[in-house]
Amino acid sequence: MPDDVFAQIVAAASDARAWYTCPNGHRYAIGNCGKAMEKAKCVECGAPIGGTAHKLTGDNRALGYLNEVRSNDMARKESDV
Ligand SMILES: [Zn+2]
Repeated sequence: MPDDVFAQIVAAASDARAWYTCPNGHRYAIGNCGKAMEKAKCVECGAPIGGTAHKLTGDNRALGYLNEVRSNDMARKESDV
């Protein structure tokens, strides 16, 4: 199920540039320059996400830029078959 949700988010977030995860591993995207410029709450668990001045909050992790994440996702699916 998480992969389906992720695919929907990718389709909807046309201006999303970079992907991150909240402290609990939920993926979210940051648009504009792709850097953390504002704080928000994870839509899944309410944990603090984002950050200020390009620094991520707490235990957030950077996944990479959109194109990288997409190709990694495809590569993983192909290797799973
Ligand atoms: Zn979360």
